[in-house]
Amino acid sequence: MKDNLIIEGIAVNKLILSTCLFMAVSQVNLGYEVGRNMRENTKVIAIGNKVIGGNNPILIQSMTNTKTENVEETVAQILALEAAGCDIIRCAVPTMQAAEALAEIKNKIHIPLVADIHFDYRLAIAAIEFGADKIRINPGNIGGLDNLKAVVKVAKERNIPIRVGVNSGSLEKELVAKYHGVTAEGIVESALDKVRIIEELGYYNLVISIKSSDVLMCIKTHEIIAKQTNYPLHVGITEAGTVLAGNIKSAVGLGVILYQGIGDTIRVSLTGSPIEEVKSAKLILKTLGFRKGGVELVSCPTCGRTQIDLIRLAGEVEAMVQDIDLDVKVAVMGCAVNGPGEAKEADIGIAGGIGEGIIIKKGKVIRKVPEAELLSSLREELLNMKKLQEQEIV
Ligand code: SF4
Repeated sequence: MKDNLIIEGIAVNKLILSTCLFMAVSQVNLGYEVGRNMRENTKVIAIGNKVIGGNNPILIQSMTNTKTENVEETVAQILALEAAGCDIIRCAVPTMQAAEALAEIKNKIHIPLVADIHFDYRLAIAAIEFGADKIRINPGNIGGLDNLKAVVKVAKERNIPIRVGVNSGSLEKELVAKYHGVTAEGIVESALDKVRIIEELGYYNLVISIKSSDVLMCIKTHEIIAKQTNYPLHVGITEAGTVLAGNIKSAVGLGVILYQGIGDTIRVSLTGSPIEEVKSAKLILKTLGFRKGGVELVSCPTCGRTQIDLIRLAGEVEAMVQDIDLDVKVAVMGCAVNGPGEAKEADIGIAGGIGEGIIIKKGKVIRKVPEAELLSSLREELLNMKKLQEQEIV
């Protein structure tokens, strides 16, 4: 079966694939190669113990959806996100109690902590004082220039980066009138205006994010702003939607933006678990060649020849490989017609038969096991591969 799909986000990968095929065809015109960051001159910004910009890897961010005031729950979620591969975490800071909680949260986690503040400049100052590694504000809604000055002063004293965030939904009336509606040009002008105000206050430790839930507008906005500034860009499709819609919109939007070498850190926004955001972000980066490592799962879409419960098995394999740190391709195929051939292309694979299946490793059939034992046998083989790899390293 030639139409293998990666289980996680089936539709996402189909769309990414079409996007990439289109890009590959037009690569000569684009003048750069897949995976190369054409904005390698972006300013390098340190966020706690991580850096973004320049030639540094594109980092994955997510945002907690616990009450930040609830330290225990927030820390538990951040630790789970760290384990899933989150590089930088952001927490909403809507109250002074939430700002105070940052100090305790920060002590218990290992990745940089970003405070997300709206409206109240005092919360931004408090967040910095309680240890935030970066703050995210919209200078347009922080209550005027004096308040912004006060925030910038404290950020400057502690050299804490400010992410200047602008959303299409909050574009200033003047810019809406000037550009006859909410446009990419208007959003860019709004973001750069705000950056300029902070620069005039003598501060340059900045990251920019411009968000729109309209994917095409978001792409255009990033294409325009990337030519006009070298501050690192935090890229994401805002309010992308539920897990399915959000994944598709994010994969298409981020795929096109990142492919052009634009973007230094990303967040996939989903109405769902932040863990899913991180998994999707990792897959997007991996699909585009920006990340390596981890188990890549391919599986057939099933058809009338499938004799085992492949849909269930593929889901179980996907969950089973999560904790196995191996850079391999695992194939889960439904039948003996095309399955073995396809599984041979992978490092290890399963091909189903009638109530049983074979395990194929590096092109050779190594075991024939009952259907009920396929999952555990595959895990056993993967763990053996891991052990061998560790021995080779030692
Ligand atoms: S069951 Fe076999 S033929 Fe059908 S989709 Fe899977 S691999 Fe292809």
